[in-house]
Amino acid sequence: MKKYNFYAGPSILPEFTMQKTAEAVLNFAGTGLSVMEVSHRSKEFIAVMTQAQQLTKELLHVPDGYSVLFLQGGASLQFLMVPYNLLNKKAGYLNTGMWASKAMKEAKLLGEVVEVASSKAANFNYIPKNFEVPADIDYLHVTTNNTIFGTEILTDLDVPVPMVADMSSDIFSRPVDVSKYDLIYAGAQKNLGPSGATIVIVKNEALGKVNRVIPTMLDYKVHIDNESMFNTPSTLAVFGCLQTLIWLKDQGGVEAIEKVNAKKAEVLYGEIDRNKMFMSTVPDPADRSRMNVTFVMTPEYVELEKEFNEFAKARGMIGLPGHRSVGGFRASIYNAMSLEGVQALVDVMKEFEKSK
Ligand SMILES: *Cc1c(COP(=O)(O)O)cnc(C)c1O
Repeated sequence: MKKYNFYAGPSILPEFTMQKTAEAVLNFAGTGLSVMEVSHRSKEFIAVMTQAQQLTKELLHVPDGYSVLFLQGGASLQFLMVPYNLLNKKAGYLNTGMWASKAMKEAKLLGEVVEVASSKAANFNYIPKNFEVPADIDYLHVTTNNTIFGTEILTDLDVPVPMVADMSSDIFSRPVDVSKYDLIYAGAQKNLGPSGATIVIVKNEALGKVNRVIPTMLDYKVHIDNESMFNTPSTLAVFGCLQTLIWLKDQGGVEAIEKVNAKKAEVLYGEIDRNKMFMSTVPDPADRSRMNVTFVMTPEYVELEKEFNEFAKARGMIGLPGHRSVGGFRASIYNAMSLEGVQALVDVMKEFEKSK
């Protein structure tokens, strides 16, 4: 039976990425050695790192004056690195979920944090709008896609200060105006590659403005000056990320994949809205994530939750149970999930409805 992977992260990757990575584990770039055992300073691996950086710039149309880094420590370390490098006095945070809250916690270690708005009182089931952004903050931090709560900010906000964005779960899913951001970061394991790599896109000019001593490994400048090779990078993970970027370019880039993502979301939310057994956890359609589709059973059918999960699992649908803070289900339909995969899930939802 075909398996469909709806895990939130680590999560589905293109078959191409798996195939190429498997080959390189046995014989990397014709070296006769595994990508796992080749020096990161070899010309073959340097070519991988350089190409991954270049393709990122090309696909996201990154303007001149920005650097692309592949670091370690996950998005969670970026929660700390960002304020270490960019927060002088005061920063603003839009609190749209658990990851945003965790980012705020770290920033508070280094300066004043203004929570510009929060949807916490509604269990983060919407994106706050029309909030005021103080003009005197060093940056506004946003989480563009809230992986746990299934909400997404689908357009780049217009604010009077530079933005910093956690794009862990929607980077490369649509075009982004990078010039509006001083920094964008993302753990690779949602939409890009194996866990172990973290991508950072940073405006060079934004650095060097804070008055604190920055520990070497937390200093973006150190990593920029050393081409992401200050210490050993996660070579295998970076190789995997590169394969996904090559695949994405072949699909027509972020402009083309956005259309597919919009269609997938339309099909799945359409069924959730139509099927009497299910309902979205995000009331406003404008706030619904195209990457993580969260839904629950309607009150009348809520006792069938376990049964539906078993029913779906028996038909190849893997990783559907929602995060414990939301419950219900979460179908993560990242770039690598095909429309056919989404349709297969919709068919299972219809079949379950008919069976009752
Ligand atoms: C998964 C996730 C994180 C945490 O990523 P790690 O790489 O595990 O640290 C942070 N932010 C968002 C939006 C996420 O989806």
